[in-house]
Amino acid sequence: MNFLKRRFSSGDLQGELRDEDFIPPVAPRKGPSPSAPSSPSKTASAPGIGRGFFSANKPTYNRDRCKTLLVIDDCHTDWSKYFRGKKIFGDWDIRVEQAEFSEINLAAYTDSGCMVDIQVNRNGTKVVRSFKPDFLLVRQHVRDAHEDWRNLLLGFQYGGVPSINALHSQYQFLDKPWVFAHLIMIQKRLGKEMFPLIEQAYYPNHKEMLITPKFPVVVKIGHAHSGLGKVRLGSHYDFQDIAGVVAVTSCYSTTEPYIDSKYDLHIQKIGNKYKAFMRKSISGNWKANTGSAMLEQIAMNERFKTWADECAEMFGGLDMVAVEAIQGKDGKEYIIEVNGSSMTLLGETQEEDRRHIAELVLGKMQIYCRPTPTMSKTSSTGGLMHYAMNGSQGPTPQMPPQQQQMQQNQQMSQIQGNNPQGNPANARGPGMMPIGGQGQMGSSPMPVPQVGRNQSMDEEDTMKNLRKTFAGIFGDM
Ligand code: ATP
Repeated sequence: MNFLKRRFSSGDLQGELRDEDFIPPVAPRKGPSPSAPSSPSKTASAPGIGRGFFSANKPTYNRDRCKTLLVIDDCHTDWSKYFRGKKIFGDWDIRVEQAEFSEINLAAYTDSGCMVDIQVNRNGTKVVRSFKPDFLLVRQHVRDAHEDWRNLLLGFQYGGVPSINALHSQYQFLDKPWVFAHLIMIQKRLGKEMFPLIEQAYYPNHKEMLITPKFPVVVKIGHAHSGLGKVRLGSHYDFQDIAGVVAVTSCYSTTEPYIDSKYDLHIQKIGNKYKAFMRKSISGNWKANTGSAMLEQIAMNERFKTWADECAEMFGGLDMVAVEAIQGKDGKEYIIEVNGSSMTLLGETQEEDRRHIAELVLGKMQIYCRPTPTMSKTSSTGGLMHYAMNGSQGPTPQMPPQQQQMQQNQQMSQIQGNNPQGNPANARGPGMMPIGGQGQMGSSPMPVPQVGRNQSMDEEDTMKNLRKTFAGIFGDM
């Protein structure tokens, strides 16, 4: 397959134009290849196409001993700086590729996994960069008012790319009512007092939007973020109007009481780092996340922590989660929604949050991206020698990373489920060391796989395999 060969050709190109860079011919490639640079990008003709993030710096990773992290985010954050100089498996670098969903295309194969193309604009020239991601960090919403990137999500899952949050959980976030349904389950378990979820009604289409709710009411139409599709209504005439608008969309909708609010609450959990914020609109918009707002970090408390811990157990486990709630003027709190790894970071501590996310990514890469001889960028005997010399870091018989991720997340959930205090210190998957204390702001060690009996057995197998390999190359050793 030429397609694959192009991706894995190992030229000696140095400097800016790397072997993974590909300048497409003048006419876009035609044919079935789903990686055609011009094919699926929904914004292909829009200005800003090809803004795949480029650090001006030359690559700072060892091309033969690196793992590729794909960060899906806009270009306002340069994620490469959070990984510069960081090592996993002793001496493996992190090569960071960053792009928005709209700049990404991919093809996934049963045997060779997921090959990604990102379009970048370099000095006015459209360049396609191709690579095989080892890990994924998704900081953009997979679905929003005008876009739906589940086609890419499916490809990453198809190719078995481990991710933060796990792809399985991101799929569950594609419909807000689906997430809300899981919040209802949490409330049923914990009770209304402990988990004060706002009351909602769900309508699959406009037809049942007949029973007039109490006013004022908030109608939330379809799946959209950033305040889009949300209207506050004061009378049943308004409600009828909106039901008529819903009729010309193919959207479901939900209704909930309008809460006269003091401020929004945003409780976030990144790994085991918790933070709480209050957000108050100063532009007068009833949606505090629209227009200008005042933001203040507030103290975490056990109640907020329970909300975050409980939500972090959803969908097999969420590495990052944010619970959004409203503090009513009536003194009550109302949980309105939950976001995952695409959560908005707030305030002056965003920089610190990104460092925490990077630590989380490194910890997970250490677990899910273990080098194997076939995955190594080189198949030289030097590469193999490394594994022989570093038995514990060498290849192990593995289950696919995603399966492993699901299993670990589920084990983690089970442990948390048996942990009535929701104490994260007790709520760890087997083989994981603590990531750090609650609300700890300083640097924290990443989760380190414990070397247990199974691992030593793995290592024995590994060494056996390597002996065989070396015997094949050098004769019996
Ligand atoms: P996302 O956080 O995914 O971007 P969103 O902003 O589209 O979601 P919501 O968080 O549900 O949607 O609502 C936006 C804002 O509107 C909230 O931050 C809050 O200030 C306000 N709001 C939402 N629901 C209510 C409600 N029932 N009563 C009063 N205010 C509400």
